[in-house]
Amino acid sequence: MKFYSTNNPLYQVSLAEAVIKGLAPDQGLYMPERIPTLSNEFIEKLPDLSFREIGYEVIGAIFSEDLTKEEIHELVDHTLTFDAPLVKVEEDVFSLELFHGPTLAFKDFGARFCSKLMSLLLTDSEKKVRVLVATSGDTGSAVANGFLGVEGVEVIILFPKGKVSELQEKQFTTLGKNITALEVDGVFDDCQTMVKQAFLDQELNEKLLLTSANSINIARWIPQALYYFYAYSRLPKNGKKVAFAVPSGNFGNIAAGILAQRMGLPIEHFVAATNVNKVVPDFLRGAEFKAMASIPTISNSMDVGNPSNFPRLLALYGNSEETLKEQVSGYFYTDSETVDVMQEVKKEGYTLDPHGAVGYKGLKDFMSENPGYQGVFLETAHPGKFRETVEKALDLKLTLPERLAAFMEGKKKVESLENDFIEFKEYLKCLD
Ligand SMILES: *Cc1c(COP(=O)(O)O)cnc(C)c1O
Repeated sequence: MKFYSTNNPLYQVSLAEAVIKGLAPDQGLYMPERIPTLSNEFIEKLPDLSFREIGYEVIGAIFSEDLTKEEIHELVDHTLTFDAPLVKVEEDVFSLELFHGPTLAFKDFGARFCSKLMSLLLTDSEKKVRVLVATSGDTGSAVANGFLGVEGVEVIILFPKGKVSELQEKQFTTLGKNITALEVDGVFDDCQTMVKQAFLDQELNEKLLLTSANSINIARWIPQALYYFYAYSRLPKNGKKVAFAVPSGNFGNIAAGILAQRMGLPIEHFVAATNVNKVVPDFLRGAEFKAMASIPTISNSMDVGNPSNFPRLLALYGNSEETLKEQVSGYFYTDSETVDVMQEVKKEGYTLDPHGAVGYKGLKDFMSENPGYQGVFLETAHPGKFRETVEKALDLKLTLPERLAAFMEGKKKVESLENDFIEFKEYLKCLD
């Protein structure tokens, strides 16, 4: 399979190049040259298959030209080491809990798949790969834990000093081994700028093999399609149409759901739910797509003013804005609406995190305007990850899951860096 750039369909590269480079040289996103479709028999027998069996088939459909059957199994087994239970919250409304992985957020799926795929593709390479990541919290922890102990790969995480919650910080600063955390005296955007500059620096790129593991990488994006197939397979068979609501920031997660639909999964409709960073909902309701500066909210992993996966949404629908608007509805909510919904659903016995709450509300609003559906919303993080917000909204004390509590006991190890590219470059040059 070749992968093309969304900025130029004639520019095509191999799987290895797409994964190692992350972004096309023209800044486009890589997309598979064709979307394979799965047979009706496969769709019909989904309820009888395990999560991993579904994974072998779906990943096989995209990667079988590039990887052996054994490699595909290895990749899926390494990724799906935890479940994604579909929990009924009320009649026709289901939560797809994606937070049962090592860092308790859905990004664990993509990070684990990405690390394994890189190590499979790098077996012939002599050079050690350096994965550079700028993080405001969640990405750093998922990538660090996904790559921990992976041979031939070293992860360097830049994060803004004092701007990341203690719990998030612990998840990537206490690991050691092949994970290094650099604390930058600046904000997230400074970290991001330094990482981007490093990718463009000729001298560094001659010396080191640098790569990114951010959400635009196909190796993080594609595996997210798996849990849409799995969730669909576990829904009651009652003849109702199926909608998926996805709390969205960079729109990678929902784009993976659309990929699943394009591969033949009978999803009737998507709901793109955001906080007040509402560029895409505005677009879906008829405005121009216009990037804006991001606004801080309580669902902070979705505070994205310029959603980078947007070109993928269009590409998946043959670059037809009309089809995209037909298939996907947009809703956005303020923080106080989000808190209200968390409180309402708590009364029914289910605890939402602020991101899942946005997804739930989008689904409900869509379903009340469009009867005849059953729906799934993606619960993208464990409520304990946003402990302060959740405790305050719901007036309760959360017990942290064991895995989170264990991180809190680890000892933080970081190196400090000025907000200065030259210093970062010197640091990288000293690596062997
Ligand atoms: C990253 C993240 C999102 C947004 O996902 P996108 O793929 O960027 O749209 C939503 N919820 C949580 C908890 C996240 O960490």
